[in-house]
Amino acid sequence: MQQPLKLYNTLSRQKDLFEPLNAPYVGMYVCGPTVYNYVHLGNVRTFLTFDSLFRYLTHIGYKVRYVRNITDVGHLVGDGDDGEDKIGRMAKLERLEPMEIVQRYTNDFRQVMRAFNILPPSIEPTATGHLIEQIEAVRTLLDKGLAYESNGSVYFNISEYNQQGNEYGKLSGRVLDDLLNETRELDGQAEKRSPLDFAIWKRAAPEHIMQWDSPWGKGFPGWHLECTCMSSKYLGRQFDIHGGGMDLKFPHHECEIAQGRGLTGEEPVRYWMHSNMLTVNGQKMSKSLGNSFLPNELFAGSHPLLEQAYSPMTVRFFMLQSQYRSTLDFSNEALKAAQKGYRRLANGLRIIKTLEFADVEGVTTDEKKKADIEKSIQAFYDAMNDDLNTAVAIASLFNLLKYVNMIYMNQLAPAAIGADTFGQLKEKFVAFMEEVLGLTEEPSESDAVLNGMLTLYREYKEEKQYDKVDQIRSYFKTQGLVIKDMKHRIDWAYEE
Ligand code: AMP
Ligand code: ZN
Repeated sequence: MQQPLKLYNTLSRQKDLFEPLNAPYVGMYVCGPTVYNYVHLGNVRTFLTFDSLFRYLTHIGYKVRYVRNITDVGHLVGDGDDGEDKIGRMAKLERLEPMEIVQRYTNDFRQVMRAFNILPPSIEPTATGHLIEQIEAVRTLLDKGLAYESNGSVYFNISEYNQQGNEYGKLSGRVLDDLLNETRELDGQAEKRSPLDFAIWKRAAPEHIMQWDSPWGKGFPGWHLECTCMSSKYLGRQFDIHGGGMDLKFPHHECEIAQGRGLTGEEPVRYWMHSNMLTVNGQKMSKSLGNSFLPNELFAGSHPLLEQAYSPMTVRFFMLQSQYRSTLDFSNEALKAAQKGYRRLANGLRIIKTLEFADVEGVTTDEKKKADIEKSIQAFYDAMNDDLNTAVAIASLFNLLKYVNMIYMNQLAPAAIGADTFGQLKEKFVAFMEEVLGLTEEPSESDAVLNGMLTLYREYKEEKQYDKVDQIRSYFKTQGLVIKDMKHRIDWAYEE
């Protein structure tokens, strides 16, 4: 069932009703990582935002082609038009082939994405795999008079672009005069007609390791052009959603719009979405500021700012507890609270999978509870439809959890809410957790081992061998689990 989804569109500066160009198909492009270093937790937040969107769109019935690239050339230190290539620089430092750097950090990126249960995209193109398309695009922009060659580099001509009736700056709200005042005199700007112009092809100095032949001599593509070429190749000249972190709005995405419009005359993207930053003590988490954590440091608890280890699902839950457009500040307290909250939900997920409907005669229907369950399910959808408000959606999931626990504790008979509502509760709770929010966690021991240990626990208890009983309890505790010894059953659960 497709839902009336509203998404905040950076371009229109409001929540727009999402109407794909060609429903039920949706085309979505997200700027992927520049693979010159390990991904930090800030990067994870952005990829998680778009994973939630990908999952939700799929859940409500769309067929999504999700393209997320790998930037393996052209992204320069300082994000501008001059300086070393981030990957080339690492290759020199480590005395490796650039492609060894690319492979190493692409492997790391994929492993981190898997750890957080972030789904792989439908297509994961690399910039170096699309040089022909980029050279072709440079040629077209030159033909249209929207670019000029200067000393072996090719620059996009902003003033010509604006004269042709376009508006550079409309996405980020930047005003050209302000931009001109902000721009410092940098090396290489002498090549440009205006400091606002940006490189779409750069001449490579002889020592620059990553370079290719082109009609303008040996060089490499501009970072902004890569995304334009890869998105349009797989999604068409106009497509539905383009995403990335807030810090990419300008200049990267602004330049993508200019290139797309310049190439085709069409607005390339219908919905521009930007995820807010993960901060540490109010400062953007970034490698250059030295305040970033690597996911592995988090899982091991091995960073000086961390008081303990946190599991990938705890961190995923922590991030989903805030809507993607609000900033999210990292703190041990917030993560500890997230661990507790997440484990309560994980217990609910385990429990509900074991609950079955039983039609007991003589049970009166509890209309109030039945209606509240139905309302909470709808509230989850309403929250997600309201620009992917995962924070509010999670609150309705906790409301549903209350009923799961009541049934488990024999305080509410499934018959009292009827087969339909019970079926909905079970189906939606599992789908919201696993499919939409991507929250699943397996204990380190398998279910079979844990159940075997529970059988022993029962036997030792009957035989009154309490030292053995305590040993089993302690073992569960080392695994972050507790034995729940209830009147009607013995079970295990995640320690909350
Ligand atoms: P990069 O590899 O530097 O191009 O970054 C990959 C993605 O992570 C981009 O979409 C960035 O906007 C995003 N990103 C970088 N730092 C943060 C942060 N602290 N919080 C959220 N997203 C970030
Ligand atoms: Zn990009």
